[in-house]
Amino acid sequence: MITRLVEDHAQALARKAELPAFVYDLAALRGHAAEVKEALSGPGAPEIFYAAKANPDAPILRALAPYVDGIEVASGGELAHVREALPDARLAFGGPGKTDDELELALNLGVERIHVESPYELTRLASIARTTGREVDVLLRLNLAGDRSGVALAMSGPFGMDPGLMESCTDILSASPEIHLRGIHAHLASGLDASAMVAQSAEILAWGRTWLDRIGHTGPREFNLGGGMAVDYRTPNTRFDWKQYGAGIAAMAQPGETLRIEPGRSISVYSGWYVTEVLDVKKAHGQWYAVLRGGTMHIRTPVTKQHNQPFVVLNRDSAGPTVTNEPVTLVGQLCTPKDVFAREIPTGHITVGDLVAFSMSGAYAWNISHHDFLMHPKPAFCYLDA
Ligand SMILES: *Cc1c(COP(=O)(O)O)cnc(C)c1O
Repeated sequence: MITRLVEDHAQALARKAELPAFVYDLAALRGHAAEVKEALSGPGAPEIFYAAKANPDAPILRALAPYVDGIEVASGGELAHVREALPDARLAFGGPGKTDDELELALNLGVERIHVESPYELTRLASIARTTGREVDVLLRLNLAGDRSGVALAMSGPFGMDPGLMESCTDILSASPEIHLRGIHAHLASGLDASAMVAQSAEILAWGRTWLDRIGHTGPREFNLGGGMAVDYRTPNTRFDWKQYGAGIAAMAQPGETLRIEPGRSISVYSGWYVTEVLDVKKAHGQWYAVLRGGTMHIRTPVTKQHNQPFVVLNRDSAGPTVTNEPVTLVGQLCTPKDVFAREIPTGHITVGDLVAFSMSGAYAWNISHHDFLMHPKPAFCYLDA
């Protein structure tokens, strides 16, 4: 659950009093990305665009670059950042509420595909392309209702266009020769296992093919089937079944089509640890608590997802308050009862001075957190390479 490299480094950081820290194992990240790429490499396999919003740190992007076909960005900020970190990467730009400035930046920075979210956005993009004398390749972002019960996050609401709204794009497209419609994009839900993901992809392909046929779309077609591959924080050692997904997708691929996916969490989550140390151990109203340096202002993930962040305790030659073989709740330094990493978890033995390494901290962790709340020091960031 924790790699040797990260464990050794955690001990070294503790000796130098440099905790808490986000520690990344780039070799583990590359190994995982290589496995995903391998599972999606035969005929009919989809291209992989890593969704930068899961973790846009430059060392993460650079480690992933050889194993992915491109990067998906969701704002002008991500766009500029990723372009700088990976000057030659193929980019796709999606996300709601794109401003004119962001769209123009996308044209200037050579984004390969823009995922258009609404008819109004399409109109604005066409006019920017016209004024700047450029051509643009787009996918229309589709939002299908369907039954997404049981998923971690259904992307209902303002994302993309329902079938009715898609219809309003056809006149704009015919009147805008600078826009080239290449196909359909859809990101409908997250937290799907491989069979659910294959079924969802089939739904997108069926709808998209029929629609593109009907509007008389000719030429090669693209379908971006989204991200959202399941990550199970309760079982840190299980992985999304990429082989099963790859086989399912390959079986649906048709000649003349490019398929593409844009996973984020399932790619980077396993390669990061939030490492910290125990500041206090005590019992209150019958419940044991370990108070850790840092808190959910560094890693908001367990609060957002309402889960227990998986962890290992690294015992040290510590002395001080201790608890043995009792369920312990791990909390941080914030003055709020919501600052909880994990609740009532049986831990063999935990003492003031021990280290706690939270695994599965490589995605939607630091970058979704409210860093300045209470003004504690920021964590260190370590990108280890074997
Ligand atoms: C967030 C997002 C993704 C990545 O989702 P994961 O759950 O991290 O795989 C992909 N595409 C779009 C449009 C997104 O908003």
